[in-house]
Amino acid sequence: MENLEQTARDWLEKRGVKIEDIAELVYYLQSKYHPNLQMEECIENVNRVLSKREVQNAILTGIQLDILAEKQMLDEPLQAIIRRDEGLYGVDEILALSIVNVYGSIGFTNYGYIDKQKPGILQYLNDKSTGQCHTFLDDIVGAIAAAASSRLAHRAAHTE
Ligand code: MG
Repeated sequence: MENLEQTARDWLEKRGVKIEDIAELVYYLQSKYHPNLQMEECIENVNRVLSKREVQNAILTGIQLDILAEKQMLDEPLQAIIRRDEGLYGVDEILALSIVNVYGSIGFTNYGYIDKQKPGILQYLNDKSTGQCHTFLDDIVGAIAAAASSRLAHRAAHTE
């Protein structure tokens, strides 16, 4: 495994996100369309998304900004904006879209849907009472799940 990919995976883990957590989001999005869907298939698709360079770049960039905001190390006004996860900021969503883009346009629908529902790990990442800052990470995790869902859907369409 390449160094960049390993680092991106380590950072996800350090920030409380396991591959299985993201795979559960994929299952949440896709099980209604694929009744025989197995968790291993979801995990495999998440792993394939994580092997993409643009995904690794987004993970490292977003998590770095979250950590700096948590340590109060950004300059104002960005510090307060990211720390408070201001709704009108929007750059967190834009960064996450670079992940969704990797597997085409079905990803957008999945991304929007899961961002509204906030199941599983997304609920944890949105819990402001933990004292942690996940302004970027919540969108990144949702985007990885959406991209993995698109990949899974595309491949299923080919085999069915
Ligand atoms: Mg966000």
